[in-house]
Amino acid sequence: MAEERADDSTNPTREVFASHRAMVGAIEVRRALPQRAHRTVGAWCFADHMGPAAVTEERGLDIGPHPHTGLATVTWLIEGEAVHRDSLGTEQLIRPGQLNLMSAGHGVAHSEEPTGSYRGTLEGIQLWIAQPEQYRHAAHAFEHHAELPRVEIGASEATVLVGDALGATSPARHDTALVGLDLVVRASTEMPLVRAYEYGVVVLRGAVSIDGTRVEPGSLAYFAPGIDEWRLDVNEPARVIVLGGVPFDESITMWWNFVARNRDKLTIAYLDWKNRDERFGTVASALASIDAPVPFWLRAEPETA
Ligand code: MN
Repeated sequence: MAEERADDSTNPTREVFASHRAMVGAIEVRRALPQRAHRTVGAWCFADHMGPAAVTEERGLDIGPHPHTGLATVTWLIEGEAVHRDSLGTEQLIRPGQLNLMSAGHGVAHSEEPTGSYRGTLEGIQLWIAQPEQYRHAAHAFEHHAELPRVEIGASEATVLVGDALGATSPARHDTALVGLDLVVRASTEMPLVRAYEYGVVVLRGAVSIDGTRVEPGSLAYFAPGIDEWRLDVNEPARVIVLGGVPFDESITMWWNFVARNRDKLTIAYLDWKNRDERFGTVASALASIDAPVPFWLRAEPETA
């Protein structure tokens, strides 16, 4: 309605941002979240589109043990296989169509490794969800969901990774009002949204037009709350991740693999990992643990002559 769009010029309701290229282990990723203008979408605070990369005998997803606090990791592959190991003693193979969700709470460590037998392409998305105050000091936990609900929506199909959508509910834990969807868009589709949610879109394959805004791999499309429905158009089938949620109203600070509320807590997490404090436990991995870089706020001031 016209009166609701009156602020478009000063406060855009939709924007497309470039992802940042980064290396995670030997795999190139396109980091769609966080963005300077949007640190979070709902409680989603991190989105890495991994690959496509070749898994060979020499290399794959070789991410050694590293810690997390204050967030949940969500791993979703669209091609390939990997093994998750963590300090709860979990060893879990993950394949396309399956979801790994690990809640860090006060602290956890994990690795993401090759299976040893899989050869071929690896592609997927690694997401983080900021944990709300009520849960961020809790014990760590891990869930694997071998099957998730799939919903036909017109010419398209949605898999509900986390939360509720289109009449289906994911069995995965969530602590705030949010949703994560994997959409295969085969032809023009009308998709209902939750009006109170803001949304972020990461295209993994192909390209999609959302109410006329074209979105391709390597970007984050952001949509402010207040939208009831999208019209999705494609020229050829596209693979699209949709992240939504009620805007997260707790202020967070992210550094390296940690989410906290202030820099002092990040410093403590850094030191605890450096000192191999029992907070993070140990991971039964053959890969070397990953050392944290020294936080820039702890680096010595340059000597003045
Ligand atoms: Mn991790």
